[in-house]
Amino acid sequence: MKVFISADIEGTAFTTYWDETEKTKPGYDLACREMTQEVLAAVRGAMAAGAREIVINDAHDYGTNIDPFELPACCEIIRG
Ligand SMILES: [Zn+2]
Repeated sequence: MKVFISADIEGTAFTTYWDETEKTKPGYDLACREMTQEVLAAVRGAMAAGAREIVINDAHDYGTNIDPFELPACCEIIRG
């Protein structure tokens, strides 16, 4: 099974204020960590359900928010 995940930083559990979504503002790094962890949770759920190929679209702003080094080898990430 193949899975496609498109993730945006708005709507993550952590993000509360608009400034947290902007690269140059306080709280952005924490929002990125939360986004990465939420994507990772979705990846783990997909893998548990039988997914073997997972494509993730980092859909916020410049697409450089998710830490690709946190993702398992079965994941391909679309950045930028
Ligand atoms: Zn966004």
